[in-house]
Amino acid sequence: MNDCVFCKIVRDEIPATKVHEDELTLAFMDIGQVNPGHVLVAVKPHVENIYGLDDRLAAAVFQTAARVARAVKTAYTPEGVTLYQANGPAAGQTVFHFHLHIVPRYDQDGMHLTWPAKNPPREELEAAAAKLRTALSAG
Ligand code: AMP
Ligand code: ZN
Repeated sequence: MNDCVFCKIVRDEIPATKVHEDELTLAFMDIGQVNPGHVLVAVKPHVENIYGLDDRLAAAVFQTAARVARAVKTAYTPEGVTLYQANGPAAGQTVFHFHLHIVPRYDQDGMHLTWPAKNPPREELEAAAAKLRTALSAG
């Protein structure tokens, strides 16, 4: 047993408004509702963030996210949908059990993510990609 709020939801120990449940994932209404229809998709096992997802969980959570996003589109006909997913406090994560947000979006709805693009020269992109390829091949 642990004190994680999303584990408590998975175990039915605290109330949640569920949208979908399967072996590995649970989708439920975010209590904050940035816009009506704002859903969280969580993995069922306690995995803190994206670094702890194995391929099976990663595939399952995105499959559920795509299905829920289609349902949000059908049910709310929003102007857009944002998938938001944070890992670590600096990234904005506040509940440390892996989840992603599916947020129906509308023009001028007040949800903002600032995007300070640096547009570096191509050589910087090549150096960054080389560094990442090395990390990827190391597993
Ligand atoms: P994040 O900041 O990405 O970690 O998102 C955490 C989200 O969990 C916030 O949007 C909260 O509104 C939501 N949340 C926290 N506790 C609950 C709860 N008991 N039921 C539903 N949503 C919750
Ligand atoms: Zn948990």
